[in-house]
Amino acid sequence: MGYTYDDQNIFAKILRGEIPSTPVFESDHTMAFPDISPQKKVHILVIPKGPYRCYDHFVMEASAEEQLDFFRSVALIAKDMGLCEEHGGNGYRLASNSGANGHQEVPHLHVHLLGGEACGPLTS
Ligand code: ADP
Repeated sequence: MGYTYDDQNIFAKILRGEIPSTPVFESDHTMAFPDISPQKKVHILVIPKGPYRCYDHFVMEASAEEQLDFFRSVALIAKDMGLCEEHGGNGYRLASNSGANGHQEVPHLHVHLLGGEACGPLTS
C-alpha cells in the first residue's frame, strides 16, 4: 500500500501561500513558522516543503537531500532560537504526531519544536 497525501491540508495551503504565515526559517526543502496555539513559550512547527504526510512517509520516500535539509534545519532553528544547551540555552522537546493514535490533526509532516520553559515529563 503506497502513501497518499491530501494537498488540501492547512500546511499545504501555507506552503502555496493561500493561507498567511510568518515564517521564522526557510531553506530549499524546509520551512518553519510559529504554532497558532502555542503550548510553550517557544512553539515552532518545522515542515518539509515536499508532500509528505508523516515521519515514516518522509523517511521512506523523500530524497537524501530533502531529509538532510530537514533534520539539519530543525537543529539550526533550535540553535537560532537560543534553545540548545551547547549554546547557552536550556534545551527543548521535539515531537511529531503520526496518524490517529499519534493524534495527528494536520496530515503534512511537522515537527513541534517546544522550549523556552520546562516541558515536563511526557504524560499521555
Ligand atoms: P495536534 O493538534 O494534536 O498537536 P498535530 O500534531 O497535527 O496535532 O498539530 C497540528 C498543529 O498545527 C497544532 O499544534 C495547531 O495548533 C497547529 N496549527 C493549526 N493551524 C495552524 C496555522 N494556520 N498556523 C500555525 N499553526 C497551526
